[in-house]
Order: sequence, then C-alpha cells, then structure tokens
Amino acid sequence: MVNAIVGANWGDEGKGKITDMLARESDIIIRFQGGANAGHTIVNDYGKFALHTLPSGVFYDHTTNIIGNGVALNIPVLFQEIEQVVSQGVPRPKILVSDRAQMVMPYHILFDQYEEERLGKSSFGSTKSGIAPFYSDKYAKLGFQVQELFDEDALRAHLERIAPQKNVLLENLYHKPALDIDELFDTLMEYKKMVEPYVCDVSLYLSNALKEGKHILLEGQLGTLKDPDHGIYPMVTSSSTLAAYGAIGAGISPYEITGIVTVCKAYSSAVGAGAFVSEIFGEEADELRRRGGDGGEYGATTGRPRRMGWFDCVASKYGCRLQGTTEVAFTVLDVLGYLDKIPVCVGYEIDGEVTTDFPVTTKLEKAKPVYEVLDGWKCDIRGIKNYSDLPENCRKYIEFCEEHIGYPIKMISNGPKRDDIIIR
Ligand code: GDP
Repeated sequence: MVNAIVGANWGDEGKGKITDMLARESDIIIRFQGGANAGHTIVNDYGKFALHTLPSGVFYDHTTNIIGNGVALNIPVLFQEIEQVVSQGVPRPKILVSDRAQMVMPYHILFDQYEEERLGKSSFGSTKSGIAPFYSDKYAKLGFQVQELFDEDALRAHLERIAPQKNVLLENLYHKPALDIDELFDTLMEYKKMVEPYVCDVSLYLSNALKEGKHILLEGQLGTLKDPDHGIYPMVTSSSTLAAYGAIGAGISPYEITGIVTVCKAYSSAVGAGAFVSEIFGEEADELRRRGGDGGEYGATTGRPRRMGWFDCVASKYGCRLQGTTEVAFTVLDVLGYLDKIPVCVGYEIDGEVTTDFPVTTKLEKAKPVYEVLDGWKCDIRGIKNYSDLPENCRKYIEFCEEHIGYPIKMISNGPKRDDIIIR
C-alpha cells in the first residue's frame, strides 16, 4: 500500500508533521523529489528538528527511510543531518539511498549563487542549494548518479567530459575560477565513503516490500504551485512536486499509489518570488507571520521571512486537483484563533471577470482576490481532540474552505506536535 503526502500550495504546509505522524503506521518513508532547498520542521518527543534531506520518518526505529532516485542528493548535507538527529537522541535511523539518485555537485551550488547574482533584481529567490543547476544537468544528461562513484576510471572520464562545458560559463559568463578536476574527484571519493553503506537498488527493494504488504509513504517537498509544469512557471522549483511523480522518483508503479493526502495550510505563505494573489502586507502580515507555524513563518532552510496571505480557495482547489487528492489535511488552524474576522479568497478577478479556476501565469499576474469574510472563533483550539468540540465558527471556517476546494478535509492539525490532530 502506498500513500503520498504532498502540498497543495507553495510549500511549508506542514507536510513534515503529517508525515512524522503517519510514519507511525508505516514501514518505509521515501523522498521522491527536490533536495535540501526546502525544509520540514518537526516537533516530537525528541525535540524540534529541521530536516532538509532526510525523510520525516526517521524518528521511529521500525521505519526504513529512503532517498529516491528523483531527489537532488547533497551527500554532505544528508550526513550532517543524520549526525544531527543522532546527536539529539534519536536512534540511528535506517537509511537507504537509491543507486540511481543523482548527486548535487559542489559546482551546482556555485552556479546557483552566480546565476542569482547575475540576475540581480530579477532573481528567483533561490535558496542557492544548487537545485536548478542540478536538475538542468540531469535533463541535459550531464549529471552524476550515485552508482558512478563505484567505477573510478569512468567517473574521472565523466568529469573530464563535463568540465569544458562548465568552464565556458564559469570563465566567460561569471568570471570565476575554472573547475579543478582532481579536487572534484577527491571530493567525490569523500562522498563515496559517506554514502557507500546505504546504496541500494531502491526500486527493486520497494517492489519486494510491496509484495510483502509493507506500507509505504511518499513524502513530497514544496507544493503544487511550485511544480515546473502545473505551477506558477517560471517561479517554480525544478522537480515535479506532484504525487504522480512519486511513482517515478521512487521507482514504483503509478497504480500502487492509492492514497493521496494533500496538505493545505489554513492560511497562505510562500517563499521566493512569483504571483501570490491573496498576499497581505504591513502589520496585518507581520502579525500572522509572527504567530504562524511553530514560532513564526520563517524559512526552515534560510531563516528568511515568508510572504503571508489569507487562505486561497482558488489555488487550493487547483492544488488538490493536480495532486489527485483522496483526502485533505488542513493544518496550522490554531494560529488563526486571534482574529475577529478571517478573509478567505474565493475567486480571482481577472480583466473584470471573476473565476474560481486557477489561471496560467500571465493571467495570474493580473488577478485580484475576491474575498468572503468569516467570523473568527477567538480562542485557543490546541488540545481539542474531537471535531464536534471545535468552536462553531471554527467548524464553519473548515467547512467553508472544504466546500470551496471540493475535497474532503479528513485531518485537522491544531498544533505542531504529533498528537495535535483531529481525525474527522
Ligand atoms: P513542510 O515543509 O510542509 O513540512 O512545512 P514546514 O515544516 O516548513 O512548516 C510548517 C510549520 O508549521 C512548522 O514549523 C511546523 O512545526 C508547524 N506546524 C505544523 N502543523 C502545525 C499546526 O497544526 N499548528 C501550528 N501552530 N504549527 C504547525
């Protein structure tokens, strides 16, 4: 049985918390896309963790945690993270790394920095983790798979083949030093030592696990609106954020994915540039940012303040549809308890017409939010375990959002901890 946990919006919806929670009932948790550019913040019995690469199932000793072939694997970051969780008292997790995963190379990170510098004001707001140069190389067939570390002659030849192409850009576009092949080779040999114990034919492993009836969770990073095809291109990420891609990025059959839990946050936040129709500013935004998430809405990787907005039914309906949602987890609802009135974006006005269908980027830039304003519930809902015990206005808010997005909200997260959850 395979379930995917994915985001409907711009990311940071609280997928990590939901994955950590559902991992209790799962055998295998696998990351299938993205890299160390975004982070999941998780609060559990061991403390508070910011994971960038490790799957959010590492906190149980019965789980196997896998880096799938679709991930941009930054090997030193992975190993720092393993050591970090172990140093915080978590039992050493069982990790597997796909032999087909490609590696983030040191020059991918440099290229990301240089390109953002070159673009200046029109930069993407990249986290400069090398993700865009990494995926560009993967699809230009210039990338390096983990398995290549185990054939040293071929590896060196591969480095020699790609260096001239990289050096043209480094020297002529960015005016930076050329690649040093010996140094890169030595770095890769260090990576080999780190990753060797974990390398595995993941697709075969998962195929056998499925035959044995194991429960698998696919853990997505970011959300629908950052998908390179269906998101707000070009202000997107470089790998698909959709549950469908879970089949490819893990190496399983698409029909194995029977449950798709799409995580929607009860208000909106976004990092990086790009259209954000229900965005709010000034003191209103500052207050929501300060109160948001668990200790404020600041990037788990960069610490930068997130852009804030009201819940966007248009974007979330679209986000859920593209994911193929079977159920919605509605998160961070407790944060809204301070508001007298809560605006919800129910439509976009574009050139004088109102639509509830999420448009392409050129139209999105012109969209103005159409709001309905709901009454707040003005109390703390943390600790509530039953749906019927939620204040009436809170239930009305949930049901209003549910009706407008058109997918069933079956889980409500009312706090950052594992058991701050209401199953409906
Ligand atoms: P992810 O990338 O989708 O996993 O999301 P992030 O970890 O970046 O952001 C979610 C933030 O909200 C984290 O700080 C979580 O600890 C926190 N969080 C998750 N669920 C809840 C919730 O229901 N209530 C509150 N207050 N915080 C939550």
